[in-house]
Amino acid sequence: MRALRRFTVRASLPEPLEALGRLATNLRWVWHQPTQDLFASVDPQVWERLDGDPLRLLAEVSPDRLQQLATDEGFLVRTSAIADDLDRYLTSGRWYQRRQEETEGMPSSIAYFSMEFGVTEALPNYSGGLGVLAGDHLKAASDLGVPLIGVGLLYRSGYFRQSLSHDGWQIEHYPVLDPRALPLEPLTEPSGAPILVHVAMPDDRVLRARVWKAQVGRVPLLLLDSDVEENDEDLRGVTDRLYGGDQNHRIRQEILAGVGGVRAVRVFCELTGHAQPDIFHTNEGHAGFLGLERIREYVASGELDFDQSLSTVRAGTVFTTHTPVPAGIDRFPVDLVRHYFGAGSDGLLPGVPVDRVLALGAEENPGLFNMAHMGLRLAQRANGVSQLHGRVSREMFRALWQDFDVTEVPIGSVTNGVHGPTWAAPEVSKVLGESEPDAIGKGVGIHGFEPVTDAGLWELRGALRARLVAEIRRRVRASWVQRGASNLELGWTDSVFDPGVLTIGFARRVPTYKRLTLMLRDPERLRALLLDPERPVQLVVAGKSHPADDGGKALIQQIVRFADDPEVRHRIVFLPDYGMSMAKYLYWGCDVWLNNPLRPLEACGTSGMKSALNGGLNLSIKDGWWDELFDGDNGWAIPTADGVADPNRRDDLEATALYELIGDQVAPMFYDRGEDGVPARWMGKVRHTLASLGPQVQASRMVKEYVETLYAPAARSAAAVGEYAHNGAKELASYRARLDAAWSSVRVAETTMSINGNGAAPLLGSKATVTARVELGGLDRTEIEVQAVIGRVDDSDELHDVISVPMDLQAPGEYSAEVELPYAGPTGYTVRVLPKHELLASPVELGKVILAS
Ligand SMILES: *Cc1c(COP(=O)(O)O)cnc(C)c1O
Repeated sequence: MRALRRFTVRASLPEPLEALGRLATNLRWVWHQPTQDLFASVDPQVWERLDGDPLRLLAEVSPDRLQQLATDEGFLVRTSAIADDLDRYLTSGRWYQRRQEETEGMPSSIAYFSMEFGVTEALPNYSGGLGVLAGDHLKAASDLGVPLIGVGLLYRSGYFRQSLSHDGWQIEHYPVLDPRALPLEPLTEPSGAPILVHVAMPDDRVLRARVWKAQVGRVPLLLLDSDVEENDEDLRGVTDRLYGGDQNHRIRQEILAGVGGVRAVRVFCELTGHAQPDIFHTNEGHAGFLGLERIREYVASGELDFDQSLSTVRAGTVFTTHTPVPAGIDRFPVDLVRHYFGAGSDGLLPGVPVDRVLALGAEENPGLFNMAHMGLRLAQRANGVSQLHGRVSREMFRALWQDFDVTEVPIGSVTNGVHGPTWAAPEVSKVLGESEPDAIGKGVGIHGFEPVTDAGLWELRGALRARLVAEIRRRVRASWVQRGASNLELGWTDSVFDPGVLTIGFARRVPTYKRLTLMLRDPERLRALLLDPERPVQLVVAGKSHPADDGGKALIQQIVRFADDPEVRHRIVFLPDYGMSMAKYLYWGCDVWLNNPLRPLEACGTSGMKSALNGGLNLSIKDGWWDELFDGDNGWAIPTADGVADPNRRDDLEATALYELIGDQVAPMFYDRGEDGVPARWMGKVRHTLASLGPQVQASRMVKEYVETLYAPAARSAAAVGEYAHNGAKELASYRARLDAAWSSVRVAETTMSINGNGAAPLLGSKATVTARVELGGLDRTEIEVQAVIGRVDDSDELHDVISVPMDLQAPGEYSAEVELPYAGPTGYTVRVLPKHELLASPVELGKVILAS
């Protein structure tokens, strides 16, 4: 019998247990072990069956048990102690409050926009790394006291759940989530009526969305939900699925997240007295429409025109790009953007002309609208997510800064991090003394950790491996039942994996560049490693393929078929439905974390960081974070065949290197035991990993960097443009207009370089004088900067590795500078004119430059 409709009834808690409701809805429990232990003790079996979900536990536990607990003194005392602890956590001054006392101009609040948030499996609103990173960003901000508001969408089905067909093909399920059963609260008017955010759609239609709030420690997370009765049927489905649907569906989602998201933040702050954000952080291009809505707000205020508003918005916006390949960037057909934004003066964004919108997203292809380009044009500050990815991004987006050296492209980097208290196993946290979130990232780990002996640490690693093995057996059996096997024929699953065998993990989404099947390049060699009689290896693999990507599904099927072979199935498994709750067992229990992307396509990668936090050793291509944090001793780098053009040959070379590393180094070291049975050299690497990487990979380190290098400078810029009734913004916009008008007549007329000496080739470090005559085209001399630029030259006289030196005005139009010759070998120089204004973050920012010709 099928139900007509489903809904969720909330448990009513006996009065003495009311605090449990609050402990279940504030998601701080996700990273607070004592709160989890408290819920587990309500009913250990139900807790385990529900994968540790407090709200569902309270709904499913028997009323009798609740009545019993309501009179259990011990339980009540514990509950109230933990509730008091939560109150302290929510109200006490933390790192950010101390920074605010020391420094003026820190942001009063920051809105962080992302299309996905992975905070916990109990709120499955993410697909992979990007969402989990956003969740970790919120958690670390909460621990540090950073006043962040998260903004995104609530998907009716989240991302899909994965299972396997009998022959190993991925099957997708979309379980429908009821927001009322999730740790969410609707945003309501004081009268109790739900708030609906409105966004105009073409043909005089309106898209409405409810706003749900999750509370992530101190950080509110606002999620918009279009599934309301007031919407037209097709518009109800806007937030149906994450990354499902066509371009039209997607642009509606992104308009709702960006435009509706700003509106949700405004209402939320008005209703709660929360400070309105002065900084807006766009986490990847998808949420970029938020900048257009903010322009509309300023224009609507009547105080600023479009250009003045743009200057204001840019000052307070930070854009983070996560995509190292052009193909990965979100682009829409220009006509589609015109369709949604072009409805005229009373359309989606009154006062924001569609041609200006289109110009912000313009790219090489005139038919496409590029969300990353818009992100960069709407933000004064931008970054990639590892040092290598910063370099790749500067290269990738250099067209926006034509005529500049690639090193000058104003995109920096903040390397991603992971939230230690979420991802470290409870036992590891205990040993490392990391239970106090404020202490994380201060290297605390090492103090608490010195007294642990190798033997003690080895035992701990063994316990985590054993827990993983138990979880693998449970999941392999469940998967086979699901694939149609009967329990009777599944006895073998009880001896899948061995708690004493070197365990390697490989789990991630399955886009091609991550090369799920590199390990299968030479199946016989893999088989030999798995079945080695003395030094065997076991391999656990997991990952979802995008539903539309049959290529990815075929890769999964290859792995599954290999792992189905009775000869090896005790040593290699594919676990379906990779997600946060399964992932933690892998990060805790794997001895080695394998990552073999095609360099440099992994922007950062974070799963290896989570493994490292638990003493797992990374075995990885030097890509993303590993490129900067591998130090020769904290794991292994798989050599890359960079530059080998034939992808097949490259895979062959890199797979061979991988097999050799495992067979010659990793496995021998793991099995090299002392008399006490402990692998001393291995434990040395584990210690070194915990000590050296432990503090570096923390999300708290990452969030502090965002605060210090992006949010705080942006807040100062935003304050400067906003001062005196937006005088700064008006001045900056009028400066940009003057520049635009004069720029084509600015000219570097004559340049000379004289080098002291006798005419022989000058010596490295000797001085040269550069002079130039510059025509300012009507601009004031204070409005430009003239620079001598010197660098290496290649055969075509292109300058590289440039150094620029400001030139001084000697007489009207006459500039000169003394420069030191920085390089031996072929060297060249030029002179250039750049914009100069105190409200620009750098003279490069506007992409404008006049070069001597
Ligand atoms: C950390 C994490 C990811 C991201 O891992 P990468 O190494 O960046 O691929 C994906 N999914 C889950 C569930 C995670 O916990």
